[in-house]
Amino acid sequence: MPSPESASSTRSLTAGWHLEHSYAQLPEAFHVAFQPTPVRQPKLVILNRALAESLGLDAAQLDHASWFSGNDLPPGAQPLAQAYAGHQFGNFTMLGDGRAILLGEQITPKGQRFDIQLKGSGQTPFSRRGDGRATLGPMLREYIISEAMHALGIPTTRSLAVVTTGELVRRDGMLPGAVLTRVAASHIRVGTFEYAAARGEQALLQALADHTLQRHYPDAANAAQPYLALLQGVIERQAALIARWQHVGFIHGVMNTDNMALSGETIDYGPCAFMEAYDPATVFSSIDHQGRYAYGRQPFIAQWNLARFAEALLPLLDPVEEKAVELANDAIIGFEPIYKQHWLTGMRGKLGLLTEEGDDLSLIDSLLKWMQETQADFTNTFRALSSPGSASLSADPDFLAWHQRWQERLTRQPQTAEAVQEIMRCHNPVAIPRNHKVEEALTAAVEREDLGVLERLLAVLAQPYEHVQPPPEEYLAGSPSGDYQTFCGT
Ligand code: AMP
Ligand code: MG
Repeated sequence: MPSPESASSTRSLTAGWHLEHSYAQLPEAFHVAFQPTPVRQPKLVILNRALAESLGLDAAQLDHASWFSGNDLPPGAQPLAQAYAGHQFGNFTMLGDGRAILLGEQITPKGQRFDIQLKGSGQTPFSRRGDGRATLGPMLREYIISEAMHALGIPTTRSLAVVTTGELVRRDGMLPGAVLTRVAASHIRVGTFEYAAARGEQALLQALADHTLQRHYPDAANAAQPYLALLQGVIERQAALIARWQHVGFIHGVMNTDNMALSGETIDYGPCAFMEAYDPATVFSSIDHQGRYAYGRQPFIAQWNLARFAEALLPLLDPVEEKAVELANDAIIGFEPIYKQHWLTGMRGKLGLLTEEGDDLSLIDSLLKWMQETQADFTNTFRALSSPGSASLSADPDFLAWHQRWQERLTRQPQTAEAVQEIMRCHNPVAIPRNHKVEEALTAAVEREDLGVLERLLAVLAQPYEHVQPPPEEYLAGSPSGDYQTFCGT
């Protein structure tokens, strides 16, 4: 890797692009060199200047659409489509980037490495029957939600730009085509390992595991059993990630194994949405008829997906199959206590509990039970509890009894009321992407080419923990109708 000095001297000439290609060094089975398909009339809809800057890119030189549409390639790009597989709603399928192209890995001024991927960039050898395209609404939706997640402090892929293509795409009617530029620690998925395992060549699996270790788990690479340490590391990060989702009411919507990133980032924002009224059975995705990916099932599904990862890794865990299975099982069983600990720690933060008592879980559960019974808004309930006078939140005797119990619990810890409030305000967002506000922003952008609504929403979502000067009430209130449906990333 060149020194930061030599990199910065060439950066000024190239808008700051500094692309490397470590993934392309993997065996050929993992990728196909493939160009994005040019589009008729690329037009920049939104550019994430803060993100561009943190990537070492000069936003002023990015202010045109051709790099983000695939019509032009940034200097040093080596476009490719990645091969992967995945369990989709429980069924195994061979997949791959059917509408995405990896341009390369941007090395930031701090030396970090990020995939730069175009999503909606045309057909690839993995497109099956798909057109390789994306439409404006869902790409802007990914932009909004991923940036909201980032501001909430939750590991996630990010969105650098959205362009329209000047072409119409056939979905439910004809819709404006668009391309999203996605930035990710990597696009290595549980499904990438399933793909390697399905090919049945241990050399492929090992090359992928070594690449993943180097890139995301350098400490595990030096462990006595690096592949077991990789499995444990991925389990740890996913347990932490899913706990964070649960703490803010994020519902991914399509937790297929191809949508679970080994980096520990949230990836692939399709039919995702934030829960409003608290109910573990909440599902938004129009295709999730069984509620497989409901809010309350996300931890279980994560563990199920991790079991598929462990299965794929078996040949690397131990040459004796029974021993490998035992190691994998022990690691997967370990997910539950790790997840529960992360969840409990975050929930303690949400209630300002700075010490630990054996009864804390029951205190938390009892609040959640009341919230479910009364269909209380998840975000606004915790927000109200984070302010003085929270007993006036509800006159319901059940709530008041709970509130009394909580207040007594708070008196049994040494911290001041101010310290409690401060910790609560760091754990309880004020602003989440409310479903009706997201829809309002998308409608304005798609139907009226008005981006002002979306930009105002993004500004609110960029400061989700602003309790003292909260955004206007219209961003905070629950959506008028509880019957919200989201559609797969089409
Ligand atoms: P997703 O549900 O977005 O995670 O995508 C699942 C698989 O379907 C991935 O392999 C995608 O590349 C592929 N796919 C989704 N939409 C399209 C499309 N319009 N054209 C081609 N492939 C697609
Ligand atoms: Mg996907």
